[in-house]
Amino acid sequence: MAVIRVRGVSVYLGDHQALRSVELEVERGELLAVIGPNGSGKTTLLRTIAGVLKPRVGTVYIDGRELREYSRRELARRLGYVPQRLAPQQSLTVLEFVLTGRRAYISFDYTRRDYEKALEALRKVGAEDLADRPLSALSGGEFQRVIIARALACEPEVLILDEPTSNLDPKYQVEIMELVRRLSRSGMTVISSMHDLTQVYRYADKVLALKDGRVYACGRPEEVLTEDNLRQIYGVKVRVLPEYKAVIPDQLPT
Ligand code: ADP
Repeated sequence: MAVIRVRGVSVYLGDHQALRSVELEVERGELLAVIGPNGSGKTTLLRTIAGVLKPRVGTVYIDGRELREYSRRELARRLGYVPQRLAPQQSLTVLEFVLTGRRAYISFDYTRRDYEKALEALRKVGAEDLADRPLSALSGGEFQRVIIARALACEPEVLILDEPTSNLDPKYQVEIMELVRRLSRSGMTVISSMHDLTQVYRYADKVLALKDGRVYACGRPEEVLTEDNLRQIYGVKVRVLPEYKAVIPDQLPT
């Protein structure tokens, strides 16, 4: 059974229809990349699956149950959501920040178990050494790992990431994608919006391409990432190199 099912979902942001009759299924342990040009509805889809936005039409199911039947707390224990931008909470240490990911479990104050789970999450992303560091003293790549750790601290079965590698240098991009793949191989379902199509080709199990709020294509990377599809989706010519699992611009600088 699919962990996530999206059925005929349409979402409006004010008067603007950001998603149009979207259909999607994501299986357990699958790494789904959501691609599409700016404004195509990627963030809106992630926020809808995370329960932050409500569809005007259609339904999202998690483990076969309608998303709207879950309480906020139940949902927070199942889904870890890493938004693209985070309000700075620079006065916290890394451990204090990751602990805030345990909110869905807390009734009075953090327990020993909460600390253990927060440290375990930091270990999973290879950032346990950073626990006592102020958030303000992290590099971009370190901060990205730490906000993923915060999402993992709630022990989610589904991890939702909004462009996790934007603003990172190539080394950190690979590091984050390797981490994301490790998590999915360990059975976590991961849904991530992405811009770098080479990374998508190399890491995703399945690709959902959005255009103007509609599903343009959905399938394995080699099915969706064709030169023809990408020209239609992005309006630009690219070269797909299957032997390198790479997508590059077709045009050299003039
Ligand atoms: P993406 O993540 O693919 O860049 P988004 O889901 O963020 O796309 O946005 C979808 C579209 O909705 C964009 O065209 C954006 O301009 C528009 N939009 C976002 N927020 C609002 C809003 N509050 N009111 C009207 N339109 C909005």
